Amino acid sequence: MSQTNKSYRKLFDVLLSDDDLVTKQLIKNINEEYDKHHQPNFKAIERNVLEIREINCPYCGSFSFVSNGHTKNGTQRYRCSCGKVFSAASNSLFFGTKVNINAWHSFIEGIVSETSTKAACIKAKISYTTGHYWMKKIFKVLENFQNNIVMNGNIYLDETYVGVEESKEKKIYNKKMRGLSKNKICIVLMNNGEHVLAIKCGFGRPKEDKYYQTCWRHIKEGSTLIHDEEHVHNVLIKELNLKSRAYNAAGGKILKELAMKELQPINDECRKLKYFLSKHKGIDKDNIQDYLNLYSFITNCKMKDENLYFASNLLLKLLFLADAKIKFRDVIK
Ligand SMILES: [Zn+2]
Repeated sequence: MSQTNKSYRKLFDVLLSDDDLVTKQLIKNINEEYDKHHQPNFKAIERNVLEIREINCPYCGSFSFVSNGHTKNGTQRYRCSCGKVFSAASNSLFFGTKVNINAWHSFIEGIVSETSTKAACIKAKISYTTGHYWMKKIFKVLENFQNNIVMNGNIYLDETYVGVEESKEKKIYNKKMRGLSKNKICIVLMNNGEHVLAIKCGFGRPKEDKYYQTCWRHIKEGSTLIHDEEHVHNVLIKELNLKSRAYNAAGGKILKELAMKELQPINDECRKLKYFLSKHKGIDKDNIQDYLNLYSFITNCKMKDENLYFASNLLLKLLFLADAKIKFRDVIK
């Protein structure tokens, strides 16, 4: 059983009744930590927003406004020339949430260290409902993260497949479909030592058209493709004028060993992605691209700087910079 907000409160009630000193001290510490994660700290958020970007009116975009007293949270209020009143956080993803910056930081640290969302919630001492809502915000800011990644040099490429939820499996004559059926989501993975890409490419074995549409914008013409000779790769090689280094494992023991060795970087990437997805089991596979964006974000950050602080700090910054507003009620139904 994991802690929920309710069980925390029950736990804190023990503080009043338990006579044991050690227990009392322990619960007192947990209580203090809990409070640190639950008191909204609007001032800290305001400070962060002001440090990261120039603020403007969230209603009309204007930069011409004057100070106008304080909000009831103690943060600076402004009045725009358009007549509307706003504060520094009103244009950010944090708008309207009783948010605590420590809790966000703990949560993000959990997520970028590739634990499950559940584990990140426990670390941040927030409910799963809140955690689910925060994930939506994170997905929103990472939505276009992979759009501008273009690979050059030696590019490893492969596909990996994950099954759809059992409830959504299509059946033939009431029997499970075998092999790379429509019940498998195809994910294209690329790695060139500098970047990683993970993109959904439909269901089952990809068709040439779809494959080309998914990949072409991410590969620079004239690059070298290192791959397993899968037929569908030919369309990229031809259209983008790529050099090809292909290793086919199907031609006997020696060729298999060679392929295993030469394709190890991309095989490792596939394994890492599957491990990452396994941590988020129970995810809605319709939204798998959100998780692929997150995987790509974390991996690309790690390739720049091994220290997880780099990734968590960047993600927090992106959340502060984001203009998109997601309302709690739009996510939780
Ligand atoms: Zn305005």
